[in-house]
Amino acid sequence: MEFEISARAAQWLTRLEAFSERYLLPHNAAWQRCAVRGVQPDFIDDLKSLARGEGLWNLCLPLLADGDPGTRLSNLDYAPLAEAMGRLPWTAEVFNCNAPDSGNMDLLQRNATMAQREQWLVPLLEGRIRSAFAMSEPDVASSDPTNLQTSVRRQGDELVINGRKWFITGAAHPQCQLLVVMCRNDESSDSARPHGAHSMVLVPLPCEGVQVLRNIPIMQHTALDGHCEILLRDVRVPASNLLGAWGEGFAMAQSRLGPGRVHHCMRTIGQCELALELACDRALERRAFGKPLSDQSNVQDWIAMSRLEIDQARLLVLRVAWMLDTGAPGQALRPAVAAIKVVAGRLQTQIMDRAIQIFGAMGLSPDTPLAWLWTWGRALRLMDGPDEVHLRTVARDELARAKKRGGASAAYFTTPEQLDAPVRIR
Ligand SMILES: Cc1cc2nc3c(=O)[nH]c(=O)nc-3n(C[C@H](O)[C@H](O)[C@H](O)COP(=O)(O)OP(=O)(O)OC[C@H]3O[C@@H](n4cnc5c(N)ncnc54)[C@H](O)[C@@H]3O)c2cc1C
Repeated sequence: MEFEISARAAQWLTRLEAFSERYLLPHNAAWQRCAVRGVQPDFIDDLKSLARGEGLWNLCLPLLADGDPGTRLSNLDYAPLAEAMGRLPWTAEVFNCNAPDSGNMDLLQRNATMAQREQWLVPLLEGRIRSAFAMSEPDVASSDPTNLQTSVRRQGDELVINGRKWFITGAAHPQCQLLVVMCRNDESSDSARPHGAHSMVLVPLPCEGVQVLRNIPIMQHTALDGHCEILLRDVRVPASNLLGAWGEGFAMAQSRLGPGRVHHCMRTIGQCELALELACDRALERRAFGKPLSDQSNVQDWIAMSRLEIDQARLLVLRVAWMLDTGAPGQALRPAVAAIKVVAGRLQTQIMDRAIQIFGAMGLSPDTPLAWLWTWGRALRLMDGPDEVHLRTVARDELARAKKRGGASAAYFTTPEQLDAPVRIR
């Protein structure tokens, strides 16, 4: 087992860190100022051009074809770079590695027709447009995608969509020109195959019948790119805008969420590392009752526990990246991805909570990134499915293996009968 990052990853990481230090960190205050005022920063496109010029582009897409813009990295090589991007969450866009575009590009790479690639994948790969992925709905428990009700019906050579979606990330961005909509097939409302009842439709934006009703704040933070509620009323698109096959929406959504979830987890590790650094520096410098906070044993415990938990989580995330690269079967991959999704969200809230406590009241203010990062960690425990659903996946996998063992663990009992039994070599 090799624990060092590869030479290639190390080389790109050095470049990315130097780029961040030189161009991104100096823009952080300006970006935060724009976020507070709710205006899109006007320097992002320039930064994107610079990053692309240095090859720091589309690093999160292992399926990048020869000739596509950017640098193709494996998931494992991308992990430390995503971690570095996580330190300034807005910067993933500069490298064209931001959610939900990264997941949507992966989805299109796997499923789009040539015409769909031309229309949407190419401009997304070039960072000319943005996109959103619309699955969750206010009227049904969306953690169970078989519930989704937004309908699509075929009418002549058109698809007609009706429904309401919410918390759709990215839909408020002025360059959002593609909405990938998960719809229930009109004729299959009583389908005996609940996982075959949905299709994905590519809706160009703006589009008649699509109305962005509001940008929903997440615990008092309003994202510039939005987490939007969207009404779709008699939205008509050409039948050729169907992505993949009719009824394959669920399967495609599953595969799309794999890498997307892993990218979130990779960035989480970087955010937690930053919080720990901030907490350590603060604990060394701040004095109470005649000594630095870092001399208090509870503060040392918090720092130590944070280090242990970050390192554990990183190893799990890297293992999943490796499983993605080596084509691990879905049966093995599903519980592994579910596990890191739970671990990452919980890690982030835990680490931020400790760091905030070390900072005192300042930790709750916008003067440090901690409060926003706590909120994001809390959101992570819901977005792309709540913890409980992922835990169910992990538990089911564990129990399936227990069933296969057929009670073999009973050999480890030491009941009175077993203590008296003669030794039997198996
Ligand atoms: C910041 C943010 C960004 C988001 N971005 C997007 C986006 O871009 N696109 C999109 O489509 N959606 C997005 N979402 C929505 C997100 O994916 C859903 O909120 C999530 O899937 C849960 O669905 P729900 O809110 O309907 O909760 P519900 O399905 O109503 O579930 C509520 C609770 O029920 C419990 N529960 C559910 N199932 C089980 C179970 N099997 N076992 C035990 N308990 C269970 C859980 O505790 C869960 O939290 C985003 C959400 C947030 C917060």
